[in-house]
Amino acid sequence: MPELPEVQALVEFLRERTEGLVVTGVELGSISVLKTFTPPPQALVGAPVDGVARHGKFLDLDCGGTHLVFHLARAGWLRWSDAMPATVLRPGKSPIALRVRFDDASGFDLTEAGTKKSLAAYVVGDPGLVPGIASLGPDPLTDDFTLEVFAAIAASHRMQVKGMLRDQSIIAGVGNAYSDEVLHVAKLSPFALAATLDAEEVERLYTALRATLTGAVTAASGKPAKELKDAKRAGMRVHGRTGQTCPECGDVVREVSFADSSLQYCATCQTGGKPLADRRTSKFLK
Ligand SMILES: [Zn+2]
Repeated sequence: MPELPEVQALVEFLRERTEGLVVTGVELGSISVLKTFTPPPQALVGAPVDGVARHGKFLDLDCGGTHLVFHLARAGWLRWSDAMPATVLRPGKSPIALRVRFDDASGFDLTEAGTKKSLAAYVVGDPGLVPGIASLGPDPLTDDFTLEVFAAIAASHRMQVKGMLRDQSIIAGVGNAYSDEVLHVAKLSPFALAATLDAEEVERLYTALRATLTGAVTAASGKPAKELKDAKRAGMRVHGRTGQTCPECGDVVREVSFADSSLQYCATCQTGGKPLADRRTSKFLK
């Protein structure tokens, strides 16, 4: 799933290529991807791209005051083409959910792999009307996201710090991958309770959050859309690296699995050397 750094890079990529172009077509390959009814997607046609913005993990194309907003979710992606195929996309079994064309023959497809369809697009007069945007917490890369702001957020959440970092209504843009990375850099257990962290731990977590995201944005910036997924994977220290060596201490990277996701961490760096309980392995250990 693309998170804040990849979405930010996609925003910059689209900004560079589309600002000033005019939308000449919006086609749906999947009816269910569009979550709004009015204005219709055809309202975008004939409008110039005035701006491209990010809200958390949402992308927002401002087309003459009508906004095409989309969220790539778990398996969605954006595929750019300098010369779009002429064939009109029709609803069907295609992995292409939405196609947008511009007046210089370029355009992009939003694609979604797998069977769990969660890619979502919205056509709205105001991005604030998208429920997932209206409920977003503060963006961790803005100047006013200070240590004091973060400390107040942590103090008011008696929940596991991993869950707090991932909750879009608390902090916008961080998902499963970067929360693993941030916690590894901060040397904190994913299961530590946010409200019980001491001042030094909160500062470590804040510094790790900002540095990890800033570093990932810098690494992703300027990369074409098709390279971002591999670049994200290559930059990970522990996320997705179960069984590999921790780059800090040489211990093995461990995993805790859940029904539909997993987290990775280093026991030596983050949990005082004690492996966390995992529902899959613990039944064999008993
Ligand atoms: Zn380690």
